[in-house]
Amino acid sequence: MKYDVIIIGGGASGLMCAATAAYRGRKVLLLEHTKKIGRKILMSGGGRCNFTHLHNTPANFLSANPHFCKSALSRFSAADFVELVDRHGIEYHEKTPGQLFCNESSKEILQLLLTECEWSGAELMTETSVFEVEQGTAGYHVRTSRGQFDAESLVIASGGLSIPNGGATGFAYEVAEQFGLQVTPRQAALVPFTLQPDLLEHLKPLSGVSQPVTVSCNGMSFSENLLLTHRGLSGPSILQISSYWKPGDEIEIDLLPQLDLDAWLKEQRQQRPKAELRTLMAQHMTKRLAQTLCELWGFEGEVGQYSNARLQEVVQQFKHWCLKPSGTEGYRTAEVTLGGIETDEVSQKTFEAKKAPGLYFIGECLDVTGHLGGHNFQWAWASGFCAGQYV
Ligand SMILES: Cc1cc2nc3c(=O)[nH]c(=O)nc-3n(C[C@H](O)[C@H](O)[C@H](O)COP(=O)(O)OP(=O)(O)OC[C@H]3O[C@@H](n4cnc5c(N)ncnc54)[C@H](O)[C@@H]3O)c2cc1C
Repeated sequence: MKYDVIIIGGGASGLMCAATAAYRGRKVLLLEHTKKIGRKILMSGGGRCNFTHLHNTPANFLSANPHFCKSALSRFSAADFVELVDRHGIEYHEKTPGQLFCNESSKEILQLLLTECEWSGAELMTETSVFEVEQGTAGYHVRTSRGQFDAESLVIASGGLSIPNGGATGFAYEVAEQFGLQVTPRQAALVPFTLQPDLLEHLKPLSGVSQPVTVSCNGMSFSENLLLTHRGLSGPSILQISSYWKPGDEIEIDLLPQLDLDAWLKEQRQQRPKAELRTLMAQHMTKRLAQTLCELWGFEGEVGQYSNARLQEVVQQFKHWCLKPSGTEGYRTAEVTLGGIETDEVSQKTFEAKKAPGLYFIGECLDVTGHLGGHNFQWAWASGFCAGQYV
């Protein structure tokens, strides 16, 4: 069974690549090992798929080579994907500035891709396990549970390691290593933090409470919500900073980024000296959060009794809360994998491996990781589209 192009992985980048290549007249076969095509698309954005970010730029990506993603992102932009979404009549809205979500359901984005594959003539095959990939004289042989398929071009679009029980595998890294390509160390990213047992014990009862904060780590900061969970810390600010965090690092949380807390507390001390500190702090966060944190840090009593030095300690804790997460929830709940196949190993124009002509890598398996907010799908669309023009 001969094809021009075989794509392994029926996710965001693979589907985009399949349709793009098939529209060029290439005979395309896409192989997916699970029953379901596009599972992560369906799970994404809380079921509404945050399919792109209007203000997507290369600065929204982590990579050992920050220039690598520029070319593809400029050849297939957020506006290009929005144009496709419009053409399919999908209604969407902008949530947090720039982040576009479906009004109805993620199913619509998957349906868009399936329709494009159908119109272009790309063939999709699910429940097909790939046992072996081999380079032949005129292309690649792919041995699978449904027999052997051969193609001139082989595209690896099997994604990263997050959500292993949804079909994620390390297949792309294995193929990369088989052909002598370097792979950088990987870690779960866009992932909640777990906490040391003693701190968790204090914070657990606050599970479900959120607070707009600024979180910083290793020179990067994000100002978004923090969510306390029964395992530790989550919410967009935490997911974002997790991509910059390494085991053992401290993170710093400003619980009141909009407030000059020092000046405000001194004013309150003068105007309401009998007010309890926890009561005052509850003006800027939920009562339970204010109470728990005041207890945790030993800030009892009336504000009138606080010296300037003691007030400074309050400011230090609430504006510069330094804590060391014990770890992350790992690939079980991570949205993406940080790191991957070294970008120097593939062409930024075609995504073809420099050491293996005819072999392409696209999407999350590469060492290109986006911020939260639709950037990861934008990378999948852009890399899939660009490779689809050359395979
Ligand atoms: C819960 C969740 C929510 C997310 N929400 C968003 C969001 O709202 N916006 C956003 O931009 N990003 C989001 N992401 C990230 C986004 O889903 C990924 O970045 C994107 O799907 C990566 O595309 P990909 O094509 O590289 O890989 P995937 O979409 O993961 O596709 C890879 C495919 O390859 C298949 N596969 C794996 N191994 C093999 C093998 N050996 N043989 C055959 N097939 C194989 C997998 O089953 C899968 O279908 C979310 C991720 C998660 C986990």
